[in-house]
Amino acid sequence: MKIAVIGTGYVGLVTAVGLAEFGHNVIGTDKMADKIEKISRGEIPIYEPGLEVLLKSSLKKGNLAFSADVNETIQASDIIFVCVGTPQGDDGSADMSQIEEVSRFIAENLNGYKVVVEKSTVPVKTSSWIKRTISLYKKSDMDFDVASNPEFLREGSAVSDFLNPDRIIIGVETERARDILVKIYERAKDRLLITNIDTAELIKHASNSFLAMKISYINLMANLCEKTDANIEQVAKGMGLDPRIGSLFLKAGLGFGGSCFPKDLKALIKIGEDLGVNMNLLKETDRINAERARIFLEKIKKALWILKDKRIAVLGLAFKPDTDDIREGPSIRLITDLLDEGAVLRLYDPEAQNNMKELFPEDKARITYCRTPYEAAAGVNALLICTEWREFFELDLKKIKGLMANPIIVDGRNIYNPDDVRKIGFEYYSVGRK
Ligand code: NAD
Repeated sequence: MKIAVIGTGYVGLVTAVGLAEFGHNVIGTDKMADKIEKISRGEIPIYEPGLEVLLKSSLKKGNLAFSADVNETIQASDIIFVCVGTPQGDDGSADMSQIEEVSRFIAENLNGYKVVVEKSTVPVKTSSWIKRTISLYKKSDMDFDVASNPEFLREGSAVSDFLNPDRIIIGVETERARDILVKIYERAKDRLLITNIDTAELIKHASNSFLAMKISYINLMANLCEKTDANIEQVAKGMGLDPRIGSLFLKAGLGFGGSCFPKDLKALIKIGEDLGVNMNLLKETDRINAERARIFLEKIKKALWILKDKRIAVLGLAFKPDTDDIREGPSIRLITDLLDEGAVLRLYDPEAQNNMKELFPEDKARITYCRTPYEAAAGVNALLICTEWREFFELDLKKIKGLMANPIIVDGRNIYNPDDVRKIGFEYYSVGRK
């Protein structure tokens, strides 16, 4: 069986490499020819730990290849994993134009039975639209199946998440498609959950929205802590010891970002509302998340009063550590707000600077990108922690203090112990604790 992976972004590239690692014959394709050219040379266009090594080894073994010809790739394959983007549309719903385009490409190149697998995150009922589109545009009477196999990898640990998943959800409506997908995931057969397609599609949106809700919940509790003598870190610890709650995703901070949670939450709200279901629980989750940036800005103002012409270092631009992805990152809103207030910024991130430069180009008067956190701290009136990269935990804070104009840290991720930093001489503001 030949597998095609359409779309070689964060999910598609990991899927192609991961399926090749499982021993399958895989061709990855993308409409961005320059991306394919780079990947074919064994270089990855994103930062993802461990991915480049596996890519290189599968390219060498010969069971993984890449082609910029989407049509030819479809024709040459029996199973097609669709990994294109499903970004947020203007009304909050998922923009399905990339999925529709790929469905037409598949229709036009349907030269034999194929299983079309939705790997992208899609609204429940999308498979019906894919089926209808392929049926409308196909030029042959060849048969096909659509299946759902949502992806749960996390950027930063995508390779191990793909190779050792908690669960593999397979949504199918025919035995034939079911048998093929079960065979593909033979290696992880103890973790398969086979459902109908609507269920599989909904599991993905339901999971992401639940995790987003957990983050907003702990941030709501952090707001309460800030008005009392309670400490959010201990509240979270105490809650997390209950196995029904669990300790993960109970980290108060700047809220969730990235290319998944914000858009998937909004998409599920829209899906529910279109179906006449009251989605207020998730709307509140979204509202609480949106106010995190304002609350953080208020803390910065509490420390500096007027931000105009204040020099401020921002450490961490990626939406979370171990990725170069800045999509929907809290840093974007923060930088926008600080620039609106007239602040002068010194920015640092170990991996995401180039992506951020596309949004906020270097500008001598207002925005400087720095090579190290220490360079960022030079002469600033305050230092902000926006992403909890490991290296920020290990900074030499005495040295940082010596470099800054005013020793003020506003920590949006609670990475330091308040007593420790205050002992060094910092004025320290964090989230949900004194
Ligand atoms: P991405 O934007 O990084 O990649 C999408 C790729 O698809 C791009 O390279 C684009 O050029 C390509 N593409 C678009 N239209 C195409 C077409 N017609 N033919 C060929 N290629 C085409 O997106 P991503 O982050 O990889 O996400 C893909 C999907 O997976 C989304 O639905 C997302 O919600 C979901 N998802 C993402 C993650 C994540 O952590 N990024 C995790 C789980 C699920």
